[in-house]
Amino acid sequence: MKPLPLLWLFLVLGTVLLNASAILEKAEVKKGELRLHFNKAYNKGKIRHFALKHPYREVFDIPGAKLKNSTVGKHLHSSHCYSIRVSQYKPTTVRVVLETGKGYGCMPYRPILSYKSYHIPLPPFKVKKRHSVRVKTSHTKHTVPKRKGRTKHKHTTHTKHAVKPHIMKHSKAYPRGKGELIVIDAGHGGHDTGAIGGGKREKDLVLQIAKRVERQLKKRGFRVYMTRRTDRFLKLPQRTHIADRKGARVFVSIHANSVPKSKRNKAQGVETFYLQKTRDAKSQRIAARENAAVLKGASSSLSKKVIIDSVLAGPKIVESNKLAIDVQRRILANLRAHYKGVRDGGVRHAPFWVLVGASRPSILVEVGYISHPRERKRLFTPAYQEQIAKGIAEGIQRYLANREREIEL
Ligand SMILES: [Zn+2]
Repeated sequence: MKPLPLLWLFLVLGTVLLNASAILEKAEVKKGELRLHFNKAYNKGKIRHFALKHPYREVFDIPGAKLKNSTVGKHLHSSHCYSIRVSQYKPTTVRVVLETGKGYGCMPYRPILSYKSYHIPLPPFKVKKRHSVRVKTSHTKHTVPKRKGRTKHKHTTHTKHAVKPHIMKHSKAYPRGKGELIVIDAGHGGHDTGAIGGGKREKDLVLQIAKRVERQLKKRGFRVYMTRRTDRFLKLPQRTHIADRKGARVFVSIHANSVPKSKRNKAQGVETFYLQKTRDAKSQRIAARENAAVLKGASSSLSKKVIIDSVLAGPKIVESNKLAIDVQRRILANLRAHYKGVRDGGVRHAPFWVLVGASRPSILVEVGYISHPRERKRLFTPAYQEQIAKGIAEGIQRYLANREREIEL
């Protein structure tokens, strides 16, 4: 498990919180990013990132930081921003403002091993003229793609869209993905089959569902990165590193559950997890099973504890919990609209390894029990998979919409 010590180091350094002001020594535009370099380790968890509109700006308030001198952050230019400003906003708060004209799912990060730095990816698009904010003309683009089973509650919004020109406002209630990147991780793969029930393998099931989720998300205007799209094995830390490297907004790992034969007729239903230590025995059991691949040959239990603790200290837990709730709700709503007796296993937390190290809202969905005879049959049905996929996509969409609203407040 080569990547683990690296991850460990990264996280340990991250938890070294320093209270005295950090000095922002340098701000530079490099490789499509605005890179901030401090004189010492800076806890990126303290940075407040929000958007301002009219015109659209990405704003970063960095508390406990001072500009080294008045030349830091001056004369920064990029063809991907209307302007880049770095200023001493308050005596100990540095503010960075990127005027981009529109949102682009900006996910800043601290590069691995470079714990004094903070990188803010600039938009993937170039800006043309000042304030050439894209005005969409096609009405249909703003409506949720028409799908079977939605028509009932779509009527009112459809007429609204048809007559009112200011659809942008309305679309906030159910906005499109705006090109934001979502990482979908189909669990297991290759020699790691995951759970097996009735001769069916978890790795195959979750890949089928992941591909459907990809289609559902793309339909909604998101970009999707799949950690795997074939039957191959990926080490667990690789999966979340992919999410970090790609600048994704959300990381969703898809799995299926299983219990021993004696309980196979009892355990069923959908469960969504986010990372947190737990005393709940059932969550621990599920985590132990899913973690088995990475624990094999991993580093000492002490470093494992350090990693988990560091992640727990991060602010992403609250966000991951919110994401988990939205996704769980939407999966159940979609499944129950078409199937009877779908059990709600709820939103829970567990120390899943696949979620460790993901510095963005990250969840793990157990779509059902491959050990349960009826549920297994359903799980391998395209129609059932499609409802799960739709639910996951809707949950992500709703979570991001709510988050956008919070930022605007
Ligand atoms: Zn699994």
